[in-house]
Amino acid sequence: MNTEASKKAFQEAQSLIPGGVDSPVRAFKSVGTTPIFITEGKGAYLKDVDGNEYVDYVQSWGPLLFGHRDEAIEAAVIDAVKHGLSFGAPTLSETELAKLVVAFFDSIDKVRFVSSGTEAVMSAIRLARGFTGRDDIVKFTGCYHGHSDALLVEAGSGAATFGNPSSPGVPADFTKHTLLAEYNNIESVKKCFADSDNIACVIIEPIAGNMGLVPADKEFLHELRKVCDEHGALLLFDEVMSGFRASVNGAESITGVKPDMVTLGKVIGGGMPVGAFGARAEIMAMLSPEGPVYQAGTLSGNPVAMAAGYTALTKLKKNARVIAVLNERAKRLVEGMQNAAAKYNIPMQVDTRGSMFGFFFNDKPVKNFNDATKSDADLFAKFHAGMLDKGYYFACSLYETGFISTAITDEMIENTIQASDEVFKEIT
Ligand code: PLP
Repeated sequence: MNTEASKKAFQEAQSLIPGGVDSPVRAFKSVGTTPIFITEGKGAYLKDVDGNEYVDYVQSWGPLLFGHRDEAIEAAVIDAVKHGLSFGAPTLSETELAKLVVAFFDSIDKVRFVSSGTEAVMSAIRLARGFTGRDDIVKFTGCYHGHSDALLVEAGSGAATFGNPSSPGVPADFTKHTLLAEYNNIESVKKCFADSDNIACVIIEPIAGNMGLVPADKEFLHELRKVCDEHGALLLFDEVMSGFRASVNGAESITGVKPDMVTLGKVIGGGMPVGAFGARAEIMAMLSPEGPVYQAGTLSGNPVAMAAGYTALTKLKKNARVIAVLNERAKRLVEGMQNAAAKYNIPMQVDTRGSMFGFFFNDKPVKNFNDATKSDADLFAKFHAGMLDKGYYFACSLYETGFISTAITDEMIENTIQASDEVFKEIT
């Protein structure tokens, strides 16, 4: 496939934008190639500056549950734009979207909208701290919660549970209240509580999508709920990625574990920049102007973004079964690729949750980030390049999750499996 125009565009972008991108993963650095530059998307397809078309399994990293340029979402956005881009004043559209979110999530009585997942998590953590009057938080290695200072943390050495900043520019002081635990390991959580009696909340991706797809075990989440309750800490499910992807009613409906707080993003914006955080009324009452915990945003609840999100969630409300249909397709895709890999003696671990799918070139099941790091990164890079060359756009890191949209057909899935077989043959 000729990607000369993309290569040229990348060179120029690099001269003006650090790394040529506005979010690091887009640079394809972890697969050692260069990104393609997109001109448009339609349904399941992306088109690049060279005129190539790709079946898109990234879907803007999750938001586009209904594919590119869904007619209803596009019409709602155009209509909203005609009424004005932003008012910085309350609009009916915020209440309408809030009604939907509250109806979908048992654990959410009230919700506030912001403009990104990072902002949602940052605000929710402040609220958890304000509500409990405690400072420490527990996060899990391998979970990503946006790029705010306190959450850019990686494990300290040895037995130390307090994390170190994982980026220059984050003062160690800013992460000293962030304790780290291992995903799916309740003993590591108990250790955090043994080390600190000042824990405001435990934040977790209940269906982790940022170390590849690694869902938390049900029993682990039940234990986690118990430990939080024993210590009076809040449990925060970060569903920025999994919300309305893994299920329409949140991870709580799949696992039976009810969190105290939930953060959302991606799908609830229908492709526009939206994040949200919600909780039971008693917690949300702490938020300014009702309560003392400050949080604000010039473009929060933006009417165009609200219209896109409202239309996406209304579509989902009318046809909640769509998640099960997408799951069938996601399963068919990863199991088909797994069978193809097996023909060439390539061990592959696969999993799905709703419209999310993941795979690791690994001979053992992946339960946490440490397991994920033992996957074959070289093979992944070759696989990624091979599939891209055949017109299949997969996430460009082995630590990312794939997404199926309603625009992806069974035929596209079969063709993708066939292409994967050819790629495995070429790279082994
Ligand atoms: N939380 C989770 C679970 C995410 O997956 C992401 C982004 O991928 C974020 C938070 C941050 O969201 P955003 O990139 O919109 O700031």
